[in-house]
Amino acid sequence: MRTKFIMHSGARTIGGVICSVIYGHDRVIFEMGSVYDPEADIHDGRIMPRSRAWVQDAIRAKKAPAIDGLYRRHDLDGFNGLIPAEESDLNTAVFITHLHLDHMSAIGMVAPQIPVYMHKNAILIERALEATGDGVQTLERTYTSFTENVPIHIGAIKVLPIITSRRSYCDFAFLITTPDGTIHWTGDLVLHGEDAPLTFEQMEFLKAQSIDVLLCDSTGFMDQILLQMTDSTDPKAIKASRDIPKGMLDRNDLDLRIFKALEQQKGLCVINFYQREVDDARKYMGWAQKLARDPVFEPDCAWIIYQFFKMAPYIFIPDSPRYPNDPGKQPAWFKELMSICTVVKREQIAENPGGYLLQNSYRHILELFDLPASGSVYLHLDGMPHGEFDPAYQNLIKIVRNTGFDYQTFFRRNYFGHGYPPQVKYFVDQVDPKVLIPCHSFNSERLLPNHGVQLLPVEGKTYVLVNGALL
Ligand SMILES: [Zn+2]
Repeated sequence: MRTKFIMHSGARTIGGVICSVIYGHDRVIFEMGSVYDPEADIHDGRIMPRSRAWVQDAIRAKKAPAIDGLYRRHDLDGFNGLIPAEESDLNTAVFITHLHLDHMSAIGMVAPQIPVYMHKNAILIERALEATGDGVQTLERTYTSFTENVPIHIGAIKVLPIITSRRSYCDFAFLITTPDGTIHWTGDLVLHGEDAPLTFEQMEFLKAQSIDVLLCDSTGFMDQILLQMTDSTDPKAIKASRDIPKGMLDRNDLDLRIFKALEQQKGLCVINFYQREVDDARKYMGWAQKLARDPVFEPDCAWIIYQFFKMAPYIFIPDSPRYPNDPGKQPAWFKELMSICTVVKREQIAENPGGYLLQNSYRHILELFDLPASGSVYLHLDGMPHGEFDPAYQNLIKIVRNTGFDYQTFFRRNYFGHGYPPQVKYFVDQVDPKVLIPCHSFNSERLLPNHGVQLLPVEGKTYVLVNGALL
């Protein structure tokens, strides 16, 4: 028996890393997401997902991996010759590092008899999203929680979840051990801001272990980031360094800038952030309090806050069929929210615009037309649509300008949410694996090891782990 390794996707794309580690009849699959690319996505919000063939369509559209023994017979219905989970002799488990769609968008399709492991906070937030219709498309399966530093054994394969962020859903890296050796996946690697100490702890731990195979997030090695730091994209010019590159910001610097921008505002402040980052919601609530503003959230966002922190925030109800007036027509979650939260009305905001910090999501952006725009600001804080790569982003800017709100964004220049290349290089040099697989990047080949070999795996090909080498 030998350990087999297959990288199904994510070798040269941002996100969508999915790998299998197989030993005998045991199999661990880590991550179940897809590349986030709205421009290439066949679902434009106008076509309806098919009800019987939705799993097959997802595989066709590369929104879910074509892997044997992963889906229900009922959903495959003979599709593509894939073996259904019911007929597979593999003992499979799926592991998810964190609640970003490029890591977990397909978890709802996995056959219910296969456990899908995530941290309990990730499960809680996913459930809150599913309640309001914002979760993953799902056959309504269950999820199993793991705990940091407590290994889970899938037959002869051991998975150790190593925590890399304690915010919101929490982020993890996985150290996978088989009788033949070790394979480590960093998940999203961040070496700046408040997550940095945990990442350096992970690095020291791995260094002491001597790792065979390291799969490392190398998102930051794209032109756009490298050219903000130096005038070269030559990978040999990237010098390993523990420090944040000169001129680049960490999340704390960025937060300071956002807070300063808020401080200067006299009118209404509207914010658009990524709702599953529920710790950000709490941070913005704290800022609002300091600035003598009332923080107000849309019902969907308030539901996540309520589920996570057990607190009832102020809510603003957009004019939308999602929130019917008639209690008889209200979905259970919304009814519960209405019974515990205080509603802030448009008229109240109009009377005292400077007294509020109002969360707004893209789907309800037309609410800006009925809000006091004069002297008011719309702060895009990394909410959806995230950036220029999404065709909806230009539309967002167009609408904000139309309504007369001042538009400000903070996530474009001198900041990146993943590790900066010199820091990633430092991490890899310190861990010093025998085999380095840079991935989760358009420019994976630019992350070079100092001693070991760099492997850019052929997606779908089976490699065998022998004496610390992948053959
Ligand atoms: Zn990612």
